[in-house]
Amino acid sequence: MTGRILIVEDEQRIASFVEKGLRANGFTTSVVGDGDTALAWALTGDFDLVVLDLGLPGRDGFSVLRAMREAKVATPVVILTARDSVHDTVAGLEGGADDYMTKPFRFEELLARVRLRLRPADRAPEVTVLRHEDLSLDLRTRRARLPEAVIDLTAREFALLELFLRHPGQVLAREQILSHVWGYDFDPGSNVVDVYVRALRRKIGNDRIRTVRGMGYRLGV
Ligand code: CA
Repeated sequence: MTGRILIVEDEQRIASFVEKGLRANGFTTSVVGDGDTALAWALTGDFDLVVLDLGLPGRDGFSVLRAMREAKVATPVVILTARDSVHDTVAGLEGGADDYMTKPFRFEELLARVRLRLRPADRAPEVTVLRHEDLSLDLRTRRARLPEAVIDLTAREFALLELFLRHPGQVLAREQILSHVWGYDFDPGSNVVDVYVRALRRKIGNDRIRTVRGMGYRLGV
């Protein structure tokens, strides 16, 4: 069984960033963009988890959360907030939220929190080691392994390699890589992807990640 997740977010690009990522990881998603609709949907009890933005048209996220808890709806809630002050966060947690993320965030961080907060039965099956040919990546220890060596990775290198290993043989465009590894708040003109691909190649071998001219990068032939 996969988790059914209600995404409450009025900012279109963030909503679609979160939705695409959750769907790619096997979740079923619905998106709503205002507080009143969000509350109506949350009260149906049809969802296993709610990702809840705080600043919303109509009822704000805190009010949605309070009304859910008053109605005895115990669905786990992960708050998304641009307000990174301790005060708001604590208020959110006291209002019955299970966890929170401060914007901007990387998708993998949100995914980890979503998985953690879902009841075990609602979690999408989780892979712990990704493999491609003789290269493997352990998602728990965050280390890559080749027959001859264990390779330590920085956080970004890890996220980058994870993305490639989840899409073997597929061309990944720079923008796609940026939004996955660096979040939606990236500078599209940045050459940071190229820099990190080079760094990763130095660690795992030059031939594994191919440059596809004018398009992006691909793991494998
Ligand atoms: Ca908002």
